[in-house]
Amino acid sequence: PLTSNDAIEEHRICVCVRARPLNKKELSVKDLDVITIPSKDVVMVHEPKQKVDLTRFLENQTFRFDYAFDKSSTNEMVYRFTAQPLVETIFERGMATCFAYGQTGSGKTHTMGGDFSGKNQDCSKGIYALSARDVFLMLKKPVYKKLDLQVFATFFEIYSGKVFDLLNRKAKLRVLEDGKQQVQVVGLQEREVKCTEEVLKLIEMGNSCRTSGQTSANAHSSRSHAVFQIILRRRGKMHGKFSLIDLAGNERGADTSSADRQTRLEGAEINKSLLALKECIRALGRNKPHTPFRASKLTQVLRDSFIGENSRTCMIATISPGMASCENTLNTLRYANRMK
Ligand code: ADP
Ligand code: MG
Repeated sequence: PLTSNDAIEEHRICVCVRARPLNKKELSVKDLDVITIPSKDVVMVHEPKQKVDLTRFLENQTFRFDYAFDKSSTNEMVYRFTAQPLVETIFERGMATCFAYGQTGSGKTHTMGGDFSGKNQDCSKGIYALSARDVFLMLKKPVYKKLDLQVFATFFEIYSGKVFDLLNRKAKLRVLEDGKQQVQVVGLQEREVKCTEEVLKLIEMGNSCRTSGQTSANAHSSRSHAVFQIILRRRGKMHGKFSLIDLAGNERGADTSSADRQTRLEGAEINKSLLALKECIRALGRNKPHTPFRASKLTQVLRDSFIGENSRTCMIATISPGMASCENTLNTLRYANRMK
């Protein structure tokens, strides 16, 4: 597997996979690990190594990505090969995006936001916080220091095609597109931040806002996209923007047959946005002039990140290792595979 000595490659679009360990729940029902990461860029989905009665199992499949992180990988390690190389992009007047994509429970929030499962919720180890840390480190470099840049943060959620401000009590916001195709989220709070600690406070605040009033935190977050942005401004003008997105869970099969109309609509909206996202990233990779960003609210608000010479994207596909998750895992791997 990957070590910190491995070279970091420069890609316009970087696609990687992260597998988490089997969790307590999976172990308690004797679910079995069907994922192996034999080298730093290969993921295998296979029969469990233990002898079991297999009523059904798809044939073994192998996928190759830019990087593959196994269950022993840390957030710091994942960060190093994914988001960290993008930090420089925003200092060089570019747009960067980093997505976590995968089924609910596969580790998207753990990777991006930090750990929110236990009592000691800690967002300082997630990619949001690690990116902020390095933005402030970069600011100290003489070449950037002399630019006199200011740092701002936004944090919002897209739920059922609507935008809610997580830094302003979930205020519902309108998205406008002007004649020059500039997309604006009207009234979105953009808070100036001077250090990593201030960013951590905003992440905490946004996270508690995200889940407040919900019967189950995961039930809600699995159905919404959370967008955290770090924006650099120079004399008021945007210099660069880094968008870090914890996507809605991609397991939507059951929704289409749900008796609940709202659930069906939400599911359809999520499918639509994830499809649109794939198309936009593919268009970016092929330098196509027309990016189908209008197909969903998610891609619409991220429009300026999908165009332009200096846009870079990274996708972290997170997978659950258990046999019970096998179909969702294969769907995730196929989706990620199509990005390139
Ligand atoms: P998602 O956001 O994709 O629904 P979470 O990030 O909430 O999933 O992860 C589900 C559970 O698995 C959480 O309890 C989380 O702490 C744990 N988990 C996720 N990824 C890892 C990992 N790489 N190592 C250890 N535990 C993990
Ligand atoms: Mg989550």
